[in-house]
Amino acid sequence: MTTLNHPTGQAGCISQYDPQALPVSAAQAIVLQWAAPLAASERVPLRGALARVLAEDVISPIDVPAYDNAAMDGYAFDGAALADASGGLSLAVCGKAFAGHAYSGDVAAGACVRIMTGAPMPAGCDTVVPQEHVSAQGDVIAFDANAVKRGANARRKGEDLARGGVALAAGRVLRASDIGLLASLGLVEAHVKQRLRVAYFSTGDELRSPGEPLEPGCIYDSNRYALGAMLQRLNVEAIDLGVVRDDPAALAATLKLAAETADVVLTSGGVSVGEADFTRTQLQTLGDVSFWGLAMRPGRPLAFGRIWSGGRPGAGRAALLFGLPGNPVATMVSFYQIVRPALMAMAGAQAQPVPLVPALSDQPIKKRAGRTEFQRGLARRDASGQWRVAPTGSQSSGALSTMSEANCFIVLAHEAGDLDAGDAVDIMLFDGVV
Ligand code: AMP
Ligand code: MG
Repeated sequence: MTTLNHPTGQAGCISQYDPQALPVSAAQAIVLQWAAPLAASERVPLRGALARVLAEDVISPIDVPAYDNAAMDGYAFDGAALADASGGLSLAVCGKAFAGHAYSGDVAAGACVRIMTGAPMPAGCDTVVPQEHVSAQGDVIAFDANAVKRGANARRKGEDLARGGVALAAGRVLRASDIGLLASLGLVEAHVKQRLRVAYFSTGDELRSPGEPLEPGCIYDSNRYALGAMLQRLNVEAIDLGVVRDDPAALAATLKLAAETADVVLTSGGVSVGEADFTRTQLQTLGDVSFWGLAMRPGRPLAFGRIWSGGRPGAGRAALLFGLPGNPVATMVSFYQIVRPALMAMAGAQAQPVPLVPALSDQPIKKRAGRTEFQRGLARRDASGQWRVAPTGSQSSGALSTMSEANCFIVLAHEAGDLDAGDAVDIMLFDGVV
């Protein structure tokens, strides 16, 4: 049994795990222990509130709807008349009600009001018969009393949201419907958490930035761009610190700057075996950092801990550090599976498990028991409604093309071994509607 080099220097409840074969679920749990939500909040106009995280519950200041109103175009009447009617019902039209223009007169027994969707229900009326069920002759309408039930086609005051009730809970990541809902309450701004600041950089002497000439033995730095894009999707404040050469002094300087300016620091490259010694020395000088070998593919090496801007543990500002592997797909998988839940928690968001969809594999899949694999897959629903999935090709941790081609991860559970065609797997779809 190995004791983890925990970020506080203490052994946590996770000390039963071997840090060189840490299950994904254990790594996720450890990381979440360190992902304390930011305290700072601010008020932002509704138009700028999309994807921001609510800092407190929103209490509805009004009833929504604010008054009983028609849900359809038709005729409003007292539904008590339905009980007495056997078969047909005839009513005299005594007035009109439009959205924004109420009918304020009385509605006598045997009378009704022509009403449009959204118009306030006249006093004494609780039911709307839709206009398509009605035959009109002059000012009298007739309809089959069985065509409508008492109370139908009317929306009740407060039925959507009651005044004083929680309209949206703290930790909500605001979606389009939430922005509309806040507007429907008459609110002009939202009280949200401040955006998390995430600094990121790439490491490696071989890296050139797009736009630069590519000398022999060099590659373009794709991780910084993919990381920037993934962070943009999370709506955090992303701080691009560029490419850092494989030089201890440059690495230390950039890490200190990152800890000074950000809540979280993401690096890519330099954590795999062979490179780790050099990075390890730097990270362990600046802070408490553990080097893990995750039981995950792609994305085995990962450094996790805290670094301090003052150059040693406890000096200056602390930031959480994730040292991600350099291979581009490993970087992305590590980000989605390990970093993203932590960033969401630090941003103050309520935990939202990513849905897994059951599917059948179109092909046999090679899988080693004892690690979780996230293969790139292309999923579709067949004519019978069953999800089916096939890997997109090369599962090399460097092959971004098969990641781009994919529309899901095929999640192969820790304990699973080789799969046959037709076997059940779980998939994690990349895109949803909202
Ligand atoms: P490392 O973890 O630094 O040993 O990198 C592992 C592999 O990922 C090597 O082939 C690197 O060239 C490659 N790599 C590292 N950083 C990047 C990057 N920013 N963009 C693309 N490939 C990278
Ligand atoms: Mg490297």
